[in-house]
Amino acid sequence: MPVFHSPSRPRFWPVVLAAALVALVGGLAGCQKEPTSATEAKVPVVASIAPLADLVAQVGGDRVQVTQMVPLGSSPHTYEPTAGQMRAVSQARLLVLNGAGLEHWAEDVIQAAQNPRLQVLYLADGLPLIDRNPHLWLNPRYMMHYADKVAAALAQIDPQNAAYYRERSQAYQAQLEHLDADIRAQLAQAPTAKVVTLHAAWEYFAREYGLQVVAVIETTPGREPSPAEVAAIVELMRREGVRVVVVEKQPTPAVAQVVADEAGAQVVYMEPLGGPRPYDTYLGLMRANVDALVQALRAGNPR
Ligand SMILES: [Zn+2]
Repeated sequence: MPVFHSPSRPRFWPVVLAAALVALVGGLAGCQKEPTSATEAKVPVVASIAPLADLVAQVGGDRVQVTQMVPLGSSPHTYEPTAGQMRAVSQARLLVLNGAGLEHWAEDVIQAAQNPRLQVLYLADGLPLIDRNPHLWLNPRYMMHYADKVAAALAQIDPQNAAYYRERSQAYQAQLEHLDADIRAQLAQAPTAKVVTLHAAWEYFAREYGLQVVAVIETTPGREPSPAEVAAIVELMRREGVRVVVVEKQPTPAVAQVVADEAGAQVVYMEPLGGPRPYDTYLGLMRANVDALVQALRAGNPR
């Protein structure tokens, strides 16, 4: 045995080493080349809120680098940009905003960024507003318009990949179309479609899908209603037979729990921005929200 082994060793190892070296060099070359060219090609985009960052990623695919401004868990209505995010805007080619008054900080950020190459996209522009309410993204049909606008803006900035953006936008819109049909089918199974919401986030969703928002508890984000307002809402809920209170944050804020308890209603959590799975994409978020809503409508109105 050793007789056969020892002569083979000196011949064998150089071959292995050479092969390993080739693999290593090849691997290194691959490592160095790919990310560099890919990063160079990527369009730097900043988006205000999670659903819009997700939208840009869906439409832009691996051709975009997305930075999200409003972190999960904080309200876009009261948010203040950080220095790092300001820097991202100063280096971006595209700033994607919802508009309709959601990003009250946007004008200051755009001015401070002093970025002549920056294009600013207000996605809600041109869509019909209800009472200056900015939550249009929670209507999937409006999200389709948003996708078109993002694809057009990316195509303008990066014309070589215009077809890529258009195709991805169409594929994503097909998914939104599917979501829309599922929401209609699910809500058709719900016995009554009356709710009270903590925050005025669901007006566009409600109008699209025939949900009736009977009252909003916090008409100004962050301002608690007075005891008289709470009493009036409870009274209204009893009269209208509203059995569901929609809250947009967790844990359930005390005022929403009080209203629900007083009116004998259920609290249901519907997330408008994002969070851990399944809330980490717009599609996942909407499906989870609608599942929760329909379940609560059924439980609150048995029969
Ligand atoms: Zn809001």
